Amino acid sequence: MLLLHPPLTKPCEPPAALAYLAGALQSHNIPCTLCDMNIEGLEYICVSSEPAEDTWSKRAFKNIARNLEALQKKQTYQNSDRYKRAVADVNRILELAGKKFNLQLSLSNYQDNEASPLNSKDLLKIAENFEYNIFYPYFKIRLEQLLQQSRSEYIGFSLNYLSQSLCTFAMIGYLKMHHPRVKVIVGGGLATTWLSHPGWDNPFSHLIDHFIGGRGEVPLIKLLGHGARNISSKLDYAPLRQNNYLAPGFILPYTSSYGCFWKKCNFCPETSEDSVYEHNPPATTVADLHSLCKKTKPALIHLLDNAISPSTLRALAGEKFTAPWYGFARFDNLLADKTFCSQLKESGCTMLKLGLESGDQLVLDQMNKGIDLHLASQVLTNLQEVGIKTYIYLLFGTPAEDRNAALRTMEFIEKHHQAVNFLNLAIFNLPIHSEQTATLEVSDFYEGDLSIYQNFIHPKGWNRGEIRRFLDQVFKKSPQIGPILLNDPPFFTSNHAPFLVTK
Ligand code: SF4
Repeated sequence: MLLLHPPLTKPCEPPAALAYLAGALQSHNIPCTLCDMNIEGLEYICVSSEPAEDTWSKRAFKNIARNLEALQKKQTYQNSDRYKRAVADVNRILELAGKKFNLQLSLSNYQDNEASPLNSKDLLKIAENFEYNIFYPYFKIRLEQLLQQSRSEYIGFSLNYLSQSLCTFAMIGYLKMHHPRVKVIVGGGLATTWLSHPGWDNPFSHLIDHFIGGRGEVPLIKLLGHGARNISSKLDYAPLRQNNYLAPGFILPYTSSYGCFWKKCNFCPETSEDSVYEHNPPATTVADLHSLCKKTKPALIHLLDNAISPSTLRALAGEKFTAPWYGFARFDNLLADKTFCSQLKESGCTMLKLGLESGDQLVLDQMNKGIDLHLASQVLTNLQEVGIKTYIYLLFGTPAEDRNAALRTMEFIEKHHQAVNFLNLAIFNLPIHSEQTATLEVSDFYEGDLSIYQNFIHPKGWNRGEIRRFLDQVFKKSPQIGPILLNDPPFFTSNHAPFLVTK
């Protein structure tokens, strides 16, 4: 089996899905070959691009090797200006290379000005015209090598983000043209979302032989004709470790659960897609992490859970890992206990990502977020006092919000600004199958047949244009909030944030 991670995702850590699938296949004695075509493809662009004329671009081209190397050194992250300059210069190369293909290409996104990943017709066209893809000179050679190496008729694509969609289809188009006998399997988060559309009518049946929704290990093993025994979380990062990820050491991605144990927030696809929740026994998570740390000597552990469960947090708090760790948690009673927060810090917790969404209690209640603002305030104070950094997620424009509620969010952040190290601001999108569509005036307009969100008329007239103006002219101008926003690592955001706050 050949397993591929297509461009484009942030090139800072190995793709966990490939490592999990490889571990499961190997435990069933099914040989597999893995390739992170994202990092390889981006490297290809960095080395093959032609210099441009302006001063910034000339500097970026001259220093590309030095900047890539700098982003793999810890010291670079100790100096925020040096770090930001290296990132901006590397990104400049991608930006210029992308322009020649009418793309908005960056270290975190792949956007085609003429084709949308939300439109199946566009994806089909990209598959037909694969030779116009920016990565074509790289993937036409690399796919041949990988096919030779793996000698398998099955090729799996891990498709998790919209930014991967167009390149995935270009590669599939190439394979179907040159190797019509190969069987193409597509799984991952984005594939799962497509399959969860009630009206899903596969427009790609001549290109994709099998889709796999949800957790892929068992269906993949069965599809390959083997009986799936129990799937333990045996990860295999060995084949991916030689890649030159842009991080100061190996980042170990690990998930202790699939889905979300809360699954009630009515703006979240986890709720509308009613994803299954599965949870490793906390003792297994702890044992796995110790053993993986021993094997891979990571610079950082990245817990990928949508929300780390309280039982797992309790288990982690009693340990001492050899690498710092971070991940998403909920504002939970556990974190309102300062002693517990100290234990988490002792275990290696360097940063928590927390979805606060709003600083208005009514808005939080309406979105079923399950957050009490007094508790959130206590949690933030505790985390600050014990030295755990925070990456706070805010969501503006939910149906219950108006400008006054947004101002209360701003006041909440201003009041707690010393406890908030990083901020992510987002504007609400209505998931296409959310229960809220029944109570809102939904407009017919959609971007494409694969769109996962739907337009709606905001019941309080708090529309996207006004929200954007509010964020730009009011929220971001706050003297307490502005500096927090400047902390955000460009393109890499939370993936690099722990390195910028760890001395
Ligand atoms: S806690 Fe997070 S992942 Fe879970 S339902 Fe809410 S927003 Fe979604």
